[in-house]
Amino acid sequence: MNRESYAAAQVQQSAIVIDTHADTPQRFVDEGFDLAGPLNGGHLNLESIREGHLGAEFFSIWVEPKRYQGQYARRTLELIDSVQHQVLRHPDRMVFASSPEGIEEAHRADKFAALMGIEGGHSIENSLALLRQYYALGVRYMTLTWANSTGWADSSGDLDDPSVPHTKDGLTEFGEQVVLEMNRLGMMVDISHVADTTFYRTHAVSRAPVIASHSGVRALCDSPRNLTDDMLRAVGNSGGPSSSGGVVQVNFFSGFVAQEYRDALKAIRPEVDKLVADRKEKAKAEGREFPYAEEDRIWRDYMDRIPRPPLSRLIDHIDHIAKVAGIDHVGLGSDFDGVSGQLPEGLDSAADLPKITQALLDRGYSAEACRKMLGGNLLRVFREVGAVSRSLRAETPIH
Ligand SMILES: [Zn+2]
Repeated sequence: MNRESYAAAQVQQSAIVIDTHADTPQRFVDEGFDLAGPLNGGHLNLESIREGHLGAEFFSIWVEPKRYQGQYARRTLELIDSVQHQVLRHPDRMVFASSPEGIEEAHRADKFAALMGIEGGHSIENSLALLRQYYALGVRYMTLTWANSTGWADSSGDLDDPSVPHTKDGLTEFGEQVVLEMNRLGMMVDISHVADTTFYRTHAVSRAPVIASHSGVRALCDSPRNLTDDMLRAVGNSGGPSSSGGVVQVNFFSGFVAQEYRDALKAIRPEVDKLVADRKEKAKAEGREFPYAEEDRIWRDYMDRIPRPPLSRLIDHIDHIAKVAGIDHVGLGSDFDGVSGQLPEGLDSAADLPKITQALLDRGYSAEACRKMLGGNLLRVFREVGAVSRSLRAETPIH
């Protein structure tokens, strides 16, 4: 903590710091990565978690939809298993959590809490039974879509693809059932990645406040993955009149943070896409696999040449949401290990999280405001989602 002031260190240590999105499980499964080992180009391990005082992480259960076609449930279960395996391997330093109380307990025991969120509704293979079983295994949020539409919910990632069927107004009847079943179970409804129509339909349907697990501000960086000011306010007002509202967890990816980074990325995309396609073709001709890690490495090489945005640009997103939606509706959703290493200057791993706290204090936010943004807000929403679940379970008995 030598880079930060004493005040920032105090805030970081007294807060329960919660990050709602890290793609590390793919490293667990595909690379045999262990959290106790060195970072090896990644953003998250036990050492950086300790240094950055990260209290809880929602590990992302993300199934690449093309590669795992026909095996979505299998891959989902393997990723879930990999998170549970890490907890079993390091019981002295981490603990599995599936509730706000679990996160608080871990904090008191000075342990890191591991939670899970599914990224992409295709994991449930159109089955509420699978959704319920994922909940039973400890999954506590689901992003309704990743970059692919599910048939029952539309993604911002393939809206302009005419070969993909889309819904009429954001959610089909089954899509509404998914949202309501998530409300009943006590699984947070995550609207990151979804199309704007799906966002508004979900907002109208959900009985509980919603979260954006890893999204930023569209007014600052014009990506369909980011939220308009109206959507920021809508997340803040979600869950109905008696709710204290949802939370937008800010994504750290340079391509969602800074417009000029995004423009530079757009310029190199055709060249990289072609190179990836050529390499895929070559691998196929040689009769070998083309692992995701190889594709990621190609992207990383190119993206590393684009200048990193300064950290202040990320803070601008937090600041903007705090001003537009309110201080109670913003948090952290890093996307660690899911952005080909592309983070703003000074952010190289979870160890650098206190720099965000320092920057917020420098902008005049109080210690209490910082603690809300670092994790308190997410805990509040998580708690309310649990309360809504209990009341829905009470009013809808099992037949
Ligand atoms: Zn994502």
